[in-house]
Amino acid sequence: MTVPAAPGPGSREVASGLTVYRGQILHFLDDPAVAGEGAHVYHPDGALVVQDGRIVRADDWREVAASLPASANVIDYARQLLVPGFIDTHIHYPQSDIIASYGEQLLEWLERYTFPTERRFDDPVHAREVAAFFLTELLRNGTTTAAVFATVHPESVDAIFEAARERGMCIAAGKVLMDRNCPEFLRDTAESGYEQSAALIERWHGRDRLLYAVTPRFAPTSTDRQLELAGRLLEAHDDVLLQSHVAENHDEVRWAAELFPWSRSYLDVYDHFGLLRRGAVYAHCIHLDQRDRQRMAESGAAMSFCATSNLFLGSGLFDLDAARAHGVPVGVGTDVGGGTSFSMLRTLAESYKVAQLARQRLSPLAAFYLATLGGARALGLADHLGNFAPGMPADFVVLDPAATPLMARRMERAEGLVEELFVLMMLGDDRAVAATYVMGEERWRRTP
Ligand SMILES: [Zn+2]
Repeated sequence: MTVPAAPGPGSREVASGLTVYRGQILHFLDDPAVAGEGAHVYHPDGALVVQDGRIVRADDWREVAASLPASANVIDYARQLLVPGFIDTHIHYPQSDIIASYGEQLLEWLERYTFPTERRFDDPVHAREVAAFFLTELLRNGTTTAAVFATVHPESVDAIFEAARERGMCIAAGKVLMDRNCPEFLRDTAESGYEQSAALIERWHGRDRLLYAVTPRFAPTSTDRQLELAGRLLEAHDDVLLQSHVAENHDEVRWAAELFPWSRSYLDVYDHFGLLRRGAVYAHCIHLDQRDRQRMAESGAAMSFCATSNLFLGSGLFDLDAARAHGVPVGVGTDVGGGTSFSMLRTLAESYKVAQLARQRLSPLAAFYLATLGGARALGLADHLGNFAPGMPADFVVLDPAATPLMARRMERAEGLVEELFVLMMLGDDRAVAATYVMGEERWRRTP
């Protein structure tokens, strides 16, 4: 299968007019694991109609073609698959440079690799250089929205938001709060963390498509006072997000119990300070109990399932069925640099294997839901992105099911959409991303 030629130089003139992308179209209205067949919409020969950066309609090509004005710009992707842009619910942009660092589990990993790397982000020039690389890497992998950890330095947040704004992307990010149990050079105080976060919210939250996320790294590196003030930030700004980590690793869970002896569980620490709510997303959520999951479901807080990271750092296996049984929103996170790939396709492959180890099922449709609408729901943003409903931003990715010789060969034997999706997620990576669009603008195109 060949990649269609890039839109010609004249295509810019009609960018504000109607553009129709023809190809296989797939998106979700609900979770296939819960709602079954009615959860997805699929047009084998479909048309995605875009105007002024937003979705007008996703339908069968035949239906759309019948009423298409002569002035419409048609881009034909033939048998390639158009899905909503991937949503990565947990990633650290400053860790782009320590991905694939050898030999440690969580707490040693932080000491040995993470903290020394994050130190450099007090330099805005360095922060901007990494932020630009990072967002290009997201787009190259078909990811159009992400919940992103910066570092403790406000400059690191400015850098990622400036770069996201230039690219028109919907990015949530926040300054890490960390006032103990870390090197002096990365330490804020409860008060300075609060004030810097409040100033960043004022500067960035709601500007274009940017969203602020209050970002305590994890309970062990914050004092009670800092977590209390994080709760105050949420109270004062009811539409900001919150992102953190919980119950990733056994040593970490034990440490949290020592540091917060009054807590019923690790998750209970966050609950106590008012940090569980809709739009709060917690990475990992491995070593939880039923009561924790119940509290997450009641509060609307979400889990980010970070399969490559959990395997790489030897943390444990995420219990997808238990999350589903309690009705907790779940998204997928790459967790770079603890995770080993920016690719959501690769991450879905490892998610499938984690489910297999737990004797659970992650169907191809459910997997693509998690990477799109599931992620939007986890971030509390499903009214704003995640599928091709009319009016949604035209953030989408063009996937090439025959991107490599092996995929092309395997795809010849694939029967139907579900099998095609499975091959894409098991064998695909950035090579399978033919193009990525943000608000109807092409922001990435694979070179043939
Ligand atoms: Zn993380």
